[in-house]
Amino acid sequence: MQSYSRNNIILRVNDLKTYFFTRRGVVKAVDGVSFELRQGECLCLVGESGCGKSVTALSILRLFDSPPGRIVGGTVVYNSTDLASCPDQELRKVRGKEIALILQEAQSALNPVLTIGDQIIEQMKIHLPLSTDEARFKAINLLREMGIPSAEDVLNYYPHQLSGGMKQRVLVTMSLCCDPKILIADEPTTAVDVTIKAQVLDMFHQLKTKRQMSLIFITHDLAVVAEIGDRAVVMYGGRDVETAPVSEIISAPAHPYTAGLLECLPDLSREMSRLNSIPGMPPDPSKMPPGCTFHPRCPKMIDICRTQEPPLAEISKEHKVRCHLYA
Ligand code: SF4
Repeated sequence: MQSYSRNNIILRVNDLKTYFFTRRGVVKAVDGVSFELRQGECLCLVGESGCGKSVTALSILRLFDSPPGRIVGGTVVYNSTDLASCPDQELRKVRGKEIALILQEAQSALNPVLTIGDQIIEQMKIHLPLSTDEARFKAINLLREMGIPSAEDVLNYYPHQLSGGMKQRVLVTMSLCCDPKILIADEPTTAVDVTIKAQVLDMFHQLKTKRQMSLIFITHDLAVVAEIGDRAVVMYGGRDVETAPVSEIISAPAHPYTAGLLECLPDLSREMSRLNSIPGMPPDPSKMPPGCTFHPRCPKMIDICRTQEPPLAEISKEHKVRCHLYA
């Protein structure tokens, strides 16, 4: 699966911190996340709801509401430009053209009162110097590439006339209008049934192999990570707690949280009366526990975990973990 180049880094996120300054206090949604994205790879950001995956994705393109949100630290380097601090004018040249983001929930991302054609063509004309006919021609070709049959007819449909999988394909088509180098997809397989999920995963796999795109794929589902990912960043409490090739994450997870997530997957080879779960709840990002943020739920906690943040430890060049057990 690893057809990407290990050295060809296209995006580098370093110690990124995005806080939201609210009346209830400071919400540290992303609190020191680092990873690199390599040319042609699929990097998965994985973790429970509220762990900071989506805010990390939004922070790459500074697409959150500001105020109350603000990047308070770290860098996001793309083509020698720090997207976390560059002027808005410069960032606008990257958004959609170089790096595209597909937001969660295909149903609500499309305008219900406009046809699919109107929405795709409008998107193309905002970014590219195309006439309506040229944009329509390009839209039909992209829809065909995304495996949509009768693409000309689909341009005249409204979103409610399409299945969940078709809507997801339309969103991907819109995001590909400007041939971006990086595609970020936020939970594209959530809220679709199992058949559609397989189709959506296949579509992203094709994008990676045929277009050599670099993908950041956000999901809470480790089974999806195993299906589509080359490498994975496991997130908890707004931090990256484990980064490794997907094969190692699945076969030899180092962080107790990653191991807990794996134990929650259903095992079809044996009869189970109930699914496993990680006891306790993810932390409130406005009241993070001291020390290791996972310590209230961790079955392997030792004394130091209550008071000191674990440093980043290298298990191998490609496998890093934040846990006192490896320090
Ligand atoms: Fe568990 Fe301690 Fe490791 Fe945190 S640092 S995951 S509490 S063992």
